[in-house]
Amino acid sequence: MALSGLDVYKLLPKTNCKECGQPTCLAFAMKLAQKQADLSACPHISEQSKAALAAASAPPIRLVTVGTGDRKVEVGNETVLFRHDKTFFHKPGFFVRLKDTLPAAELESAVGKIKDYAIERVGITMRVDGIAIENASGDAAVFANAVGTALSRTDQPLVLIASAPAAMAAALEKAGSAAPLLYAATAENWKDLAALAKQYKASIAVRADNLQALAELVEQVKATGVEDIVLDPGVRDLHGSLVALTQLRRLALKSNFRLLGYPIITFPGEGAGSVQEETIGAAEHVAKYAGIIILDHFEPAIAYPLLTLRQNIYTDPQKPIQVSPGIYEMNAPKPDSPLLVTTNFSLTYFSVAGEVEGSGKPAWLLIVDSEGMSVLTSWAAGKFDAEKIAKSVKQFDVPSKINHKKIVIPGLVAGLSGELEEELPGWEIRVGPREAIDIPAYLKAWS
Ligand code: SF4
Repeated sequence: MALSGLDVYKLLPKTNCKECGQPTCLAFAMKLAQKQADLSACPHISEQSKAALAAASAPPIRLVTVGTGDRKVEVGNETVLFRHDKTFFHKPGFFVRLKDTLPAAELESAVGKIKDYAIERVGITMRVDGIAIENASGDAAVFANAVGTALSRTDQPLVLIASAPAAMAAALEKAGSAAPLLYAATAENWKDLAALAKQYKASIAVRADNLQALAELVEQVKATGVEDIVLDPGVRDLHGSLVALTQLRRLALKSNFRLLGYPIITFPGEGAGSVQEETIGAAEHVAKYAGIIILDHFEPAIAYPLLTLRQNIYTDPQKPIQVSPGIYEMNAPKPDSPLLVTTNFSLTYFSVAGEVEGSGKPAWLLIVDSEGMSVLTSWAAGKFDAEKIAKSVKQFDVPSKINHKKIVIPGLVAGLSGELEEELPGWEIRVGPREAIDIPAYLKAWS
């Protein structure tokens, strides 16, 4: 929890010497608490106070990175309980668990499918983030070989699942430079696993069956010098996970309880009786409050809805996803092709563009800057009106691309026709479909 101005003031020298540029220490404290001043501006602050203020300004949930390079996964560093309070910053990573008992060829093929899976939605490419390899064989060499096979096929981050330190050590000889997450330190093995995490600069998951035991284990692991920790509170059922994960988030954010201020790992498949239940559990964990989600099944029918849910929850609610305004070419349009207009809200754009492309009919799509709002919302807010449409026609030099003067407005704003006729003299204003799904039929009937 951030310190208040008065909390900060208690740590300052209280001499009001003004050397920080503020008239009093209290004024400086207020600026500091609002992050409008830098601590270094006060030359008289004690080392002890500096340390206390630095600790207080650390994020309440530590940012933990798994993997390296472009496909690394960063989780944690969240600051709010509810998305609408601000936003959620670091989306949970989806990892798919594969056992080291799988034949090498099958393992390689499964890793390849997971790595190559990508789907585009509203202009954003969504992927599954990584692979979790489990030492189901109990054999260190088999585990190490499986990890080697996975690494030969993917550059995605890895989670190494093994309880035996010897197996983890063997796998780390192959994957030590890939910054994997080690799962999991328990009351039995934490000393050895923490030593390996330190040696390989890896992150480590800590597992206990209640929050008290979890905090104690975290304290022990932290004391070895390992900082990048992920929490497993041990619960697997839907209700228990919701309660435990919410308690963890509240303790970190509301009580500033540092020992539990880390991202959380979940295993929705372990509490599920079917693939559907696993997917429901994973969806719950996306919303509240997992950092890493280990799936036991991978198929597009599971991945797509989960990735879509994650994308929706981890966008800034105050900043709609938008595309750039402009004139877009669909299916290689010619000068006599129809001209349709809509707004730059991503969902609107991709719905309309998808239907136009799917129709196979060439068309021009004029995208007006509506500040990322959909057609009706932007019309109601005065962001999508006749003046703006006419301005866009000129701004993007539409007359130089077409040899007609017909423009199709969305059916939802048919009422703009009259005003647009005034703004675009000599143009024929046509009213298109209300729903994007009806665009192909409309284009086929175009004349
Ligand atoms: Fe107070 Fe430090 Fe500013 Fe002087 S420089 S007024 S001691 S905060």
